[in-house]
Amino acid sequence: SKEQGRNTYNFYTARMNEDVAHRLLIEEQLRGALSRNELSVHYQPLVALDSRSLVGAEALLRWNNPVLGSISPEEFIPIAEKTGIIVSIGRFVLQKALQQNADWKRRYNTPLRIAVNLSPRQFRDDGLLPYIKQVLDETGLSPEHVELEITEGVLMSGHTLIDQALESLNKMGIGISMDDFGTGYSSLSYLRSYPFDTLKVDKSFIQDITVDPADLELVGAAVAMGQGLGLKVIAEGVETEAQYQLLATLGCDYGQGYLFGKPVDAEIFETTYLRH
Ligand code: C2E
Ligand code: CA
Ligand code: CA
Ligand code: CA
Repeated sequence: SKEQGRNTYNFYTARMNEDVAHRLLIEEQLRGALSRNELSVHYQPLVALDSRSLVGAEALLRWNNPVLGSISPEEFIPIAEKTGIIVSIGRFVLQKALQQNADWKRRYNTPLRIAVNLSPRQFRDDGLLPYIKQVLDETGLSPEHVELEITEGVLMSGHTLIDQALESLNKMGIGISMDDFGTGYSSLSYLRSYPFDTLKVDKSFIQDITVDPADLELVGAAVAMGQGLGLKVIAEGVETEAQYQLLATLGCDYGQGYLFGKPVDAEIFETTYLRH
């Protein structure tokens, strides 16, 4: 009926307003999150599949807010991106992660590679490259120990300076990974056009490799293609021993996932993986 239709409509607008209000609350809280020290960086181990040894870590942002509790980056990163707050937050992550890796290097003599995620908005910041250089300078970390992860979204944003930025980073000796490989539309042409050195196969492809022959075929093809282009290949979201065995058989270079370790704070990372 008409009445019912209107109630449905009202129901959805109410829900939409709630969502908008929630987003605004996140945005408002996010603006002060850095200065209130609510942000931290967690580290997830990256493992060489042939030896099952630690080769690096991915830095992953965590936010704990007194009003909202602990909020997933899946929820707040898009808002940080849209509002531009990601520029300052992204610098915070770069600084923390590179400093941490430099400290670990000094104290444990471990040549770990630290991977940091960069989102599209950060490339519109003219200060990004100088900032990265400054952090390398200040921490004394060498660029070969840094990997920057970007998704297709960065390349699709159509910003003309992205080519130059990626070229400069590459020339500096910093590694560049294509994150979430396989989930976008034009990953293949991007692989050809930009100086990637690592390909991270999205976890949605890894999830079912032991039960879905098509997924196994796709991952095998991604490994062969990546390596054929001279790239290292990382499997994301490795959760089981059976997945690990299959990926090792495929000759995939590296793995990341709950099987090897969840993202943890720097202290736990250190006691678990570095202090032997
Ligand atoms: P991502 O870059 O693809 O990061 C990997 C995500 O997969 C992380 O989620 C990690 O906790 C999760 N993960 C790792 N191993 C497994 C596994 O075995 N199984 C499953 N189911 N998940 C696994 P997280 O930390 O919630 O981050 C989500 C996304 O938020 C990231 O996806 C990235 O896109 C974004 N993000 C996180 N930190 C940052 C940051 O500092 N800067 C930017 N720009 N984005 C970030
Ligand atoms: Ca990533
Ligand atoms: Ca990913
Ligand atoms: Ca992702």
